[in-house]
Amino acid sequence: MQTHFTEAQLADPLIREGDAILRKCVHCGFCTATCPTFVITGDERDSPRGRIWMLRELLESPTTVSADTSYHIDRCLGCLSCTTTCPSGVDYAHLLDIGREKLQELVPRKPSDRLMRRMLAAIIPHASKFRKAMCLAKLGRLVAFAMPKPMRAALQKLPLHIPNLDPVGSRTQQFSPSPAAGKKPVRRVILLAGCAQRALDPDINASTIRVLNRLGVEVIVRKEAHCCGALAHHVGATKMADATIRAAIKAWHEEIASGHIDAIIANASGCGTMVKDYGHLMRHDAEMAPLAAAISAKTKDICEILAELDLQSVLRPQAVSGYGTLAYHSACSLQHGQKIHDLPLSLLRQAGFDVVQPVNGHLCCGSAGVYNILQPAMADELQQRKLSSLRDTGASAVAAGNIGCMTQLHSDDLPVRHTIQFLDWASGGPKPV
Ligand code: SF4
Ligand code: SF4
Repeated sequence: MQTHFTEAQLADPLIREGDAILRKCVHCGFCTATCPTFVITGDERDSPRGRIWMLRELLESPTTVSADTSYHIDRCLGCLSCTTTCPSGVDYAHLLDIGREKLQELVPRKPSDRLMRRMLAAIIPHASKFRKAMCLAKLGRLVAFAMPKPMRAALQKLPLHIPNLDPVGSRTQQFSPSPAAGKKPVRRVILLAGCAQRALDPDINASTIRVLNRLGVEVIVRKEAHCCGALAHHVGATKMADATIRAAIKAWHEEIASGHIDAIIANASGCGTMVKDYGHLMRHDAEMAPLAAAISAKTKDICEILAELDLQSVLRPQAVSGYGTLAYHSACSLQHGQKIHDLPLSLLRQAGFDVVQPVNGHLCCGSAGVYNILQPAMADELQQRKLSSLRDTGASAVAAGNIGCMTQLHSDDLPVRHTIQFLDWASGGPKPV
């Protein structure tokens, strides 16, 4: 794509980076067919190619930017399906980040939108606060009719069943494998316990730790790294995101300095994608950039480390034999953000599960962080499409690697559990309930 930035504009490092990304786009449009929002609306402005065009205009001629630009950029899920399809390697994720940062300065959001974003950023990244908010929201449903529409939509997204808060992550802890025959742990890892996940499903971290311990891996959790910062980043709360990221980097580097650490493990793929991008996010801070890059390089999804270990040695496939078919839902942050698609499938099959995939598995379920709260109409349409394709598989349950998708897709007739919960069961843990 041709760009016409002035020298003065190119003095801004963000514009310079945006220019380099824009110039890679040849405007072929291959990405449009795999973009969930374009598939629904058929509007070029809801496609990656259309959005890239608007982002170029926004960076080149900021005075021409209108509320219409904001509308279509806000409707982007950030699912990154377009980056999987693009033959030119356009770094849409970082172009979108640049565009959103500039847009925030140019087009002020409505007060109600600002308030909602502030509330989400203040509550969800704090597991205990989020759990309390979910309990209050149960009562709030009784007076939902008197609330503004976005608030009503947000209430409907919250689950009715509220489990106990996951204790993992509330303090700094070490979980060691049982000292069988005096063997030393084969690896030491840090686990990102997460924020919303601890309030929504306390069993995921427990399963993760059990499976890793069975494989001889020592697991460390640092209290200070209570959130990866993704949510604050995506709602435009940049200062909050920055502080959260710095706290995690500092705590993990302390741990790395005090003993050997093989990897940092994320069991929510949205968080894993974010931590793997810390190096990029901190690139303009000379002191933090190398530390952040080192953390990103050490970060792995739970499936990646399991693939490096001898999972076979702890599996008991007879435990799961006779269990109905599992449908695998590939979270966008895992398949597009981290380009991990086949690994969870092969681990589940290795564990003895009969696994199928839904049609259009590349399309987002509409969760996308807090997109389902901020853009409920589009998110609901995507949720219904995904549920229908999952039900069409005839599976009796769904495996997924991201808490956002799990919450978005869970239904009484088709339970959704984390891949690690199925692997835990197949290696001697409890059956996922
Ligand atoms: S597929 Fe890539 S090069 Fe083609 S229009 Fe989309 S982003 Fe641009
Ligand atoms: S990130 Fe997803 S929604 Fe946004 S343009 Fe790309 S494919 Fe479409």
